[in-house]
Amino acid sequence: MTRYIFITGGVASSLGKGLAAASLAAVLQARGYRTRLRKLDPYLNIDPGTMSPIQHGEVFVTEDGAETDLDLGHYERFTGVDARKGDNVTAGKIYSTLLSKERKGDYLGGTVQVIPHVTDLIKNFILKDVDDTDFMLCEIGGTIGDIEGLPFYEAIRQIGYQLGRDKTMFIHLTLLPYIPSAKELKTKPTQHSVKELRSIGIQPNMILCRADRKIEPDLLKKIALFCNVPEEDVIPALDAKNIYEVPVSYHEYGLDTRVLKYFGISTAKKPDLKNWDGIIKTIKNLKGEVTVAIVGKYNLADAYKSLLEALDHGGFANNTKVKVKWLDAEFATAADYKNVDAILVPGGFGERGAKGKIDAVRYARENKIPYLGICFGMQMAVIEVARNLAKIKGASTTEFGPCNEPVVGLMTEWKKAGKKEKRGSEDDLGGTMRLGAYPCEIKKGTKAYEIYGASKISERHRHRYEVNINYAPQLEKAGLTISGISPDGRLPEIVEMKNHPWFVAVQFHPELKSRPFDPHPLFVSFVKAAMGKVKVAKPKKVA
Ligand code: GLN
Repeated sequence: MTRYIFITGGVASSLGKGLAAASLAAVLQARGYRTRLRKLDPYLNIDPGTMSPIQHGEVFVTEDGAETDLDLGHYERFTGVDARKGDNVTAGKIYSTLLSKERKGDYLGGTVQVIPHVTDLIKNFILKDVDDTDFMLCEIGGTIGDIEGLPFYEAIRQIGYQLGRDKTMFIHLTLLPYIPSAKELKTKPTQHSVKELRSIGIQPNMILCRADRKIEPDLLKKIALFCNVPEEDVIPALDAKNIYEVPVSYHEYGLDTRVLKYFGISTAKKPDLKNWDGIIKTIKNLKGEVTVAIVGKYNLADAYKSLLEALDHGGFANNTKVKVKWLDAEFATAADYKNVDAILVPGGFGERGAKGKIDAVRYARENKIPYLGICFGMQMAVIEVARNLAKIKGASTTEFGPCNEPVVGLMTEWKKAGKKEKRGSEDDLGGTMRLGAYPCEIKKGTKAYEIYGASKISERHRHRYEVNINYAPQLEKAGLTISGISPDGRLPEIVEMKNHPWFVAVQFHPELKSRPFDPHPLFVSFVKAAMGKVKVAKPKKVA
């Protein structure tokens, strides 16, 4: 039997609903339950794929090729369960389905309305493809009171009514702001937020209270009384130093125990939190530090969420702290690279900042500083080598406009699972990139082979342009080895520099698959290479 837990947010956004959901899933999993997570986003884009990372943070890509909300990254990292295409839906996707059904005549004769038509589609999304999951956790994006959110709240209210309390639970995460002059945490915004939720028919069964300091029992009692929730179900959600401390912290405040009690499930068997305790210990005992320069366009942690996590995982595996130095590609100069241990050019789009990224590659190559290029960072590395070593004048990417030497070009045809995918330059931009997991073959005797220890790998992609295989002979002659390639031999996937201690660039996004308990080998090796410069302790495996 699948039980549904709905997680809503109040008072303010960015309180950590995604982390709360992922943490609850992780601790339930530690008790032996099969858990999955879903995200419902009330905005009108079909998916976040066409949004700027400044607006929405990173776009997380699933194995099966969906461009989704970054919370799905937390879900995967915390539970180790791959998210699927159907685990993230937006109001835009719901409305687009609705309107094409209307045109087809599916609602012939009827007036199409938010209730029941939009809400029915939302309910279908929540209830479908749940397999034999014990707990399906559904997070509603945004904050209660947002206009776009209403059909989503109505849909989950209906599910609560239809499936009954045995199968549904509502958890509300709010903020207790601290007022310095009064030296007090305040509960009024929480009371208002719960009132708002109740006005649309949802009585939360549990309240998680985000606060930056300890919440006194009296205050928890007050919230319980005013919000109509048992005292034990008002649970503190205190700021944590590291996100990987959150599941254990919630467990200690009784989150999973109370959820099971709510559903009438025995709590006799305690969760196995060995892994989580292990990672907390590792984090607390990190020795030394390496500095990695990330040369990008957005000095915004959310825009590179998975990347920062993957670097941390690489650090954990090497028992070292990874410090990031943000460099704006448009303004970075050689002086900025003086004291860094490694350079990373991440994924990116568009010409702005490209020159600075190419300069960063050159600096890393010439000064033998470990370099990791990801997606756009690989394309810029190839252009740098083409221009400066292979002496191909005018080498560029067609992403910046037509050019005579397209060492990186628009991919118009490729194979996915045996089927041909086709694209044209005039096609829609949304959802049309090479997306999701694709296989890659690694040449023996290369750095990539040494790192992966395998000749067949699979990694997730999100890009429209590809390194042009026709330039392979010139690039190889200039010292750039194509060490990973698509099985049909047409799409370079990994390149590396000969005569350089660590210069690897990949067309895919390895950061999307890195997990705290299973750090990605590229990041483990990259951090290790960065440490080579500063000479710190030998790497060890994470718990
Ligand atoms: N803009 C490049 C492309 O579309 C790279 C994309 C990326 O880095 N994710 O191919």
